[in-house]
Amino acid sequence: MTTVLIKHLGRYVNQEVQIEGWLFNKRSSGKIRFIIIRDGSGQVQATLVRDETDPELFELASSVTQESSIRATGLVREEPRSPSGYELTVTGIEIVGGSQDYPITLKEHGVDFLADRRHLWIRGPRQASILRIRSEIEQAIRDFFYERDFILADSPIITALAAEGTTNLFEIDYHGEKAYLAQTGQLYSEATAMALGRVYNFGPVFRAEKSKTRRHLLEFWMAEAEMAYCDHEANLKIQEELVYYIIQRVLQRKSLELKTLKRDIGKLEAVSLPFPRISYTEAVKILRDSGEDFNWGDDFGAPQETLLSERFASPLFVHRFPAEIKAFYMKPDPEDSKVVLGADLLAPEGYGEIIGGGQRIEDLVLLRQKIMQHNLPEEEFQWYLDLRRYGSVPHAGFGLGLERTVAWICGIEHIREAVPFPRMLYRIRP
Ligand code: ATP
Ligand code: MG
Repeated sequence: MTTVLIKHLGRYVNQEVQIEGWLFNKRSSGKIRFIIIRDGSGQVQATLVRDETDPELFELASSVTQESSIRATGLVREEPRSPSGYELTVTGIEIVGGSQDYPITLKEHGVDFLADRRHLWIRGPRQASILRIRSEIEQAIRDFFYERDFILADSPIITALAAEGTTNLFEIDYHGEKAYLAQTGQLYSEATAMALGRVYNFGPVFRAEKSKTRRHLLEFWMAEAEMAYCDHEANLKIQEELVYYIIQRVLQRKSLELKTLKRDIGKLEAVSLPFPRISYTEAVKILRDSGEDFNWGDDFGAPQETLLSERFASPLFVHRFPAEIKAFYMKPDPEDSKVVLGADLLAPEGYGEIIGGGQRIEDLVLLRQKIMQHNLPEEEFQWYLDLRRYGSVPHAGFGLGLERTVAWICGIEHIREAVPFPRMLYRIRP
């Protein structure tokens, strides 16, 4: 008999198939037993009617416990009332591994209780839906770049240089030498962009964040693009296309998961191109007009980001931040050197910054000056300065935070659910 994924049951209507999964839940109603089986690809309700079923099988189905692993055979039926559109009439069950006293019942549990059992919590339909959407988003990102001739050039995770200062770095001992876990792969991507033209890197980055928020993890994934011969405007354009592409992809392919999450998809459908753009200076004016005590030169916190992004249905670019609050490599605006040619992309609905990006300084003398002003060790940056010594070109790039994007698209409260095993302040287990 064919073994099939639950998500593909629709291809086998009126055929007998086998599925391999776990018992999510069961109910009974008079002479009928309903067992809900999940297999990672989705879940299906399987039914057994007492008078039509072998008594031994009926008994087995009645006694199987939550999260037991089971192989089940059955006839696929169309069932318009089921979320997936299909049900299974069971013809056989084999228990593969039992499960006694599964700790996560179908009642509500506190978040700490669940976080301590994250290895099991991810089996639940909400968590599994988030992780499937995360996987779709990762694939969409790779496809987007692939289709546009970007080369995937992975950046190192262990580095000798502190790309943006040492405050948020995890330090490690590299055979007696001080090294760090990468906060960003950007500087390396600038080098690979000079070799390959348009590149991206996609991997985990590490930041020893010291504050506890709903948006910060200590280990998170970032998709970072870097493009040679690219300016600030072209950089914004590719970012909005990427984000739009991701949204469309999830809407098309993960509608069942969005439904499980009770996501208001109207909010995602409302996202349209081009995304609105305002300058930092305009943003300050908006904030002050709405009564915020905010001075030009301050950095936005979550409340300010929410206030600004709430006004738009699509993500909002805030560009030309003060040079003072941005990284040393950001190119000053030729028309006003107090601000830089960079932008943050703020997600709607108060999800905060999902992308940070900008045009980089291509001039050797200016870049060296900035490295000095920021008190960074010039010797460590010699290779980076080489990129300006040998055929420097205007170039730009950006970094998209994967978990922030997942949290927004899924409409979840806290970023900890956007990754299989979150690393947070005060939590490193499981
Ligand atoms: P924030 O100001 O929100 O802390 P940032 O400006 O430090 O973010 P960048 O250095 O611009 O962040 O990083 C690029 C992207 O990575 C951000 O736009 C965001 O989506 C994501 N990101 C940054 N820090 C974190 C974190 N601690 N956890 C999860 N995602 C993060
Ligand atoms: Mg940023």
